[in-house]
Amino acid sequence: MIQFNNVVKSYQQGNNALAGVSMQIEDGEFCFLTGPSGSGKSTIIKLITGELKPTSGTIHVNGYSLERIRRREIPYLRRTVGVVFQDYRLIEKMTVYENVAFAMRVVGAREKEIRERVPYVLELVGLSNKMNRHPTEMSGGEQQRLAIARALVNNPSTIIADEPTGNLDPERSMEIMSLLQEINNLGTTMLVVTHDLHLVHTFGKRNICIDEGLVVDDGLGEDEEVAD
Ligand code: ADP
Repeated sequence: MIQFNNVVKSYQQGNNALAGVSMQIEDGEFCFLTGPSGSGKSTIIKLITGELKPTSGTIHVNGYSLERIRRREIPYLRRTVGVVFQDYRLIEKMTVYENVAFAMRVVGAREKEIRERVPYVLELVGLSNKMNRHPTEMSGGEQQRLAIARALVNNPSTIIADEPTGNLDPERSMEIMSLLQEINNLGTTMLVVTHDLHLVHTFGKRNICIDEGLVVDDGLGEDEEVAD
């Protein structure tokens, strides 16, 4: 579960990025987080992963209280939250298999577990036949799938996908969204951060909309002009 209670985040320059955000995302939910550029979306992601601390208010993520989390607990928090970064952050000199295996090695997984788990997640994202390729030899959609596989491999309870369709054409975007939905159906809480309202309307899922650091709307992301 992700819970923000009246969260304020001011940066050192006195810039109020979040002005009192309250929201709750239950285990197993599929939820969009939308808002214009500069509205506070990245700040929310960084607060969820413990990269930033709130100026005031309380944040609970998967059993951790982030306003008072200790530095040594942060790696454990991060194992519960897989992030799919907008720029993928793949390691170019490693193969597809190694990119995913590496994410398991850094958290101390055993080789036997790695040999079992990596092919499973690559199959799930549809990259079984690309295991020995390098990221530079793959399309944008395939690189996005690899980034998703890597976020998934340590079996986090939550995935945050930051603009997962930002670099893709509409057809690939739909494929990636279907994949995220499939992963959600398997039980992973999914938070999709996007400014693509068309995507939100197409999927008709919950949409938490922020503007100027405040939640301005929270409900089903249906297109009101189309809905009757
Ligand atoms: P979004 O991801 O929706 O574009 P951000 O969370 O990046 O929004 O930014 C929210 C506000 O906080 C903006 O006004 C931005 O300029 C400001 N901000 C973001 N990061 C910093 C920082 N490191 N230092 C100062 N201000 C920042």
